[in-house]
Amino acid sequence: RKEQEASLPNLVQRLEDTVSKEHFHLLKLIGKEADRFGVSAYLVGGFVRDLLLERPNEDLDVVIEGDGIKFANVLAASHGGSIKQHDTFGTATWTTPDDMKIDIVTCRTEYYAETAALPIVRSSNIHEDLTRRDFTINAMAMSISEHSFGKLLDEYQGIEDLKAKKIRILHPISFIEDPTRIFRAVRFAVRFGYSIEKETARLAQSAMSHLFSLSQQRLRQELTLIHKEATDLEAYYLLDTLNVWKTLFQKELPASSWQYAERVFSQSGHTVFHMLTALASPLSNWREMIQLYIMTAKERVFIEQLNELKQAPIEEVKSIGELHRYLYAVHDETLRFYLLDPTQEFHTHLDDYFKKRQEMSLYLSGDDLIKLDFKPGPHFRDYLFELEIKQLNGEISSKEEATRWVLEEKQKAEANHL
Ligand code: ATP
Repeated sequence: RKEQEASLPNLVQRLEDTVSKEHFHLLKLIGKEADRFGVSAYLVGGFVRDLLLERPNEDLDVVIEGDGIKFANVLAASHGGSIKQHDTFGTATWTTPDDMKIDIVTCRTEYYAETAALPIVRSSNIHEDLTRRDFTINAMAMSISEHSFGKLLDEYQGIEDLKAKKIRILHPISFIEDPTRIFRAVRFAVRFGYSIEKETARLAQSAMSHLFSLSQQRLRQELTLIHKEATDLEAYYLLDTLNVWKTLFQKELPASSWQYAERVFSQSGHTVFHMLTALASPLSNWREMIQLYIMTAKERVFIEQLNELKQAPIEEVKSIGELHRYLYAVHDETLRFYLLDPTQEFHTHLDDYFKKRQEMSLYLSGDDLIKLDFKPGPHFRDYLFELEIKQLNGEISSKEEATRWVLEEKQKAEANHL
């Protein structure tokens, strides 16, 4: 223990270097008041982890062993400012007279009445509070009570795991209690470049069936958080080694899923939904699977258009202009995505169409038609659409030719009406 203490960084110094002078003094003051009031005060979890890693973290909550809300009121009574209480969570926000805000949280224990249900919470001591946490590196506390300011509580060898760069759960049923921890494990592994400890990974794999106790929305949220931190496909592969994709998509992903995902990831503007679609795309039931994760109207359109594209008789359509009849309503985003599909072989044709469609500007506009004595109306769209097709086919290649063509069409239409 002596040796370990000797190798510990000076947390007080770290804290002083990390937070503002005002916050440092505020923490000191809270610690002093905690001693006076007979409670213990700690910094806990992600903040302590990041302090040890020398990473910035703005999430400065004070955890109180005792009644946090009462203590917060004592602080405000002695030093001014105001308190906002959140009774159900045992939390209070103290806004100091200098307008600093700090959350005062009561130590708690969580019981899971059902797995993945919202936990039932009761106040407890710091040991129980740490026991309910997800990983050893997130289960450390630093005392800010005056008599032990800077003392680290590390009952689960979090320091060792930080050094070994390991994500490790605290007890074997952790993932069953809360399957979102499976995603959190991946997120932290990716963020810090750590590995998921072997037994932890095995327990995650054996908890896979519990993913279904999470709502699709929750799953999607967790995947989005991972995606936001991913700089390459590593996170997606890591989820694969834990069998997440096999579980969510009900099948092992083929190599083409990964090829597709790599291509999509290298494009700017990719979202987690694009990635999920790319991974699922080669599966026969891809649409059924991916539909579960749709969250916006735009995504619904994207999937419907992608489905249409997959079924469009693209190979049989001979000219680019004709292709436009099928695909004019398909958004650029969908076409661009579809063109990355490694399982499709007719890309040159479609690629050509997409390029021309993007580059093309129509020789005539609705205003031009009015100038040419056309009566405004819904038929404008028909003329302009036919013109688009002719331009794409190279049948019309100047404004004069376009004008000549519409005037001829107009004459034909008038003749038909006579
Ligand atoms: P981040 O930088 O992403 O905010 P963090 O560790 O602070 O990282 P939070 O989600 O803010 O993450 O959670 C704060 C702390 O609460 C964690 O460090 C962990 O101790 C605990 N915690 C959060 N979610 C869970 C969970 N699902 N199960 C157990 N403990 C959790």
